[in-house]
Amino acid sequence: MSDTPRRIVILGGGTAGWMAANLLAHHFSAEVTVTVVESPDIGIIGVGEGSTPQLKAFFDTLWIAEADWMPRCNATYKTGIEFRGWSDAPGFASYFHPFPTDLDGFTAPAFFANAYARRHKADAWAHPDRFFLPATLAAHRLAPLVPDSFPFRIGYGYHFDAHLVGAFLRDHAVGIGVRHLQRRVLDVAVTDGMVTHLVAEGGEEIAGDFFVDCSGFRSVIAQEALGVPFRSFADNLLNDRAVVLPTPSDAGGTNCHTTSTALRHGWAWDIPLTSRTGNGYVYASGYASADEAETELRAHLGMLDSAVEARHLRMKVGRIADSWAGNCLALGLAQGFIEPLEATALHIVQATVEGFVHAWRAGGFGPRHRADFNRTIAARYEGIRDYIVCHYRLNQRADSDYWRDNAANRHLSDSLKAIITCWFTGRDLEEEIARQDIAHYYAPASWHCLLAGYGQFPDVADGVPQPPTDIAMIDAFVARCALNFPSHDDALAGLMRR
Ligand SMILES: Cc1cc2nc3c(=O)[nH]c(=O)nc-3n(C[C@H](O)[C@H](O)[C@H](O)COP(=O)(O)OP(=O)(O)OC[C@H]3O[C@@H](n4cnc5c(N)ncnc54)[C@H](O)[C@@H]3O)c2cc1C
Repeated sequence: MSDTPRRIVILGGGTAGWMAANLLAHHFSAEVTVTVVESPDIGIIGVGEGSTPQLKAFFDTLWIAEADWMPRCNATYKTGIEFRGWSDAPGFASYFHPFPTDLDGFTAPAFFANAYARRHKADAWAHPDRFFLPATLAAHRLAPLVPDSFPFRIGYGYHFDAHLVGAFLRDHAVGIGVRHLQRRVLDVAVTDGMVTHLVAEGGEEIAGDFFVDCSGFRSVIAQEALGVPFRSFADNLLNDRAVVLPTPSDAGGTNCHTTSTALRHGWAWDIPLTSRTGNGYVYASGYASADEAETELRAHLGMLDSAVEARHLRMKVGRIADSWAGNCLALGLAQGFIEPLEATALHIVQATVEGFVHAWRAGGFGPRHRADFNRTIAARYEGIRDYIVCHYRLNQRADSDYWRDNAANRHLSDSLKAIITCWFTGRDLEEEIARQDIAHYYAPASWHCLLAGYGQFPDVADGVPQPPTDIAMIDAFVARCALNFPSHDDALAGLMRR
């Protein structure tokens, strides 16, 4: 095999496969041929309809305008995630995890100061929502769009139909020269730890220099053929099932945020598209059967008598030991999965491909770059996992064993233990995040929102002075900023007209 691969073969035509095909063809257009092999009989998982702001960077990298892809994928804008019912603490029935904007620079310090004061028993306003513009945009269904002349960057993500995004990315990839083979792969030929070719139905051999495993949870190349071990997160994250049920769009207008509502054995998502609302219940099979979960989701949606069929899915939660092994890169569900609470899976796909391209350019297939790359990706998985685990560990519900067991979870990483200890001992959380160098997974604003959002504060002592930040000034600032933003529905209609 040559040192510089000329033929990249991607197994799998789900969102991960087509994202990888586009990025690799974009970055290496003159150097390599990219082929995607997928089996229409097997199909794609067909969920994964919410993103982080990273997906905007993905489309920007490919020079694909929102007006080109969003209407074709029934996509909407996403300013963040509202968490409902995760805490019984009075005044903390819900909170909003905002996507970052430059305007946070004006309000986040006040929030941190108030939360700090509140942790020291001062009677400060320390619920996150009034400090962050995206929560206000979501409450008023305003699109996170500003004119080019607006001097601050507003971060946002998207919601979209997973099947339509796959089809869009496939068409785009084929348009820039990616080969598309519809074949079922039956075998993977491996010599000395290197994949030489895939064997499709009928015996056809599909040879390559480098292979990308995007074959979903089964991980046909990396885990099955190469035997790369899988590190389960089952000790930290109990959820291993999901049940999915669409409903019609909200007639009152289109939300620009995801809602995550805690139910008895997990949580339900509500993802607004232009064509429908995507709903699903992520739960733990150790606590609820598939029938119980479906009934609970139907009751939550008011669909107990509906004939619409639900889809049941299994989730394998954890990560592969090495994302890049030999001449194979594992991506998407084949690489790992942290449950979808913060909708991070496609973010990791993009970060993995970009990191791989960087490592490849820096040092080809030298073992040092590969080892650095694998360490970085593994740390990213674990950084994101810790943030998700923290949601469950700090939940304030006591209505089921599921929530009580999550709150009693002792399988915490040292990093997460240090974060939680820092919060409850009243030390500076920003300093702790900087000390651990983990802000690139979740920034201090995200950690503060999570910890404060669940009302994790000591009781306020009598007679303690008010802290300096006047919440009315923050309200006025956020309200003034919000005047710059158009209605979400108008923005979506505008995209259709372009
Ligand atoms: C319940 C749930 C909710 C989720 N929500 C989110 C979310 O909100 N945001 C987010 O970013 N992610 C989310 N995800 C993750 C997201 O769905 C996936 O990361 C994304 O869809 C990518 O999947 P994939 O391409 O890796 O796998 P798949 O979609 O499963 O695609 C696998 C591909 O491999 C092909 N294949 C497999 N075996 C063979 C074979 N032998 N021969 C030929 N072809 C083969 C299949 O045909 C298919 O094309 C969620 C996942 C679950 C389970």
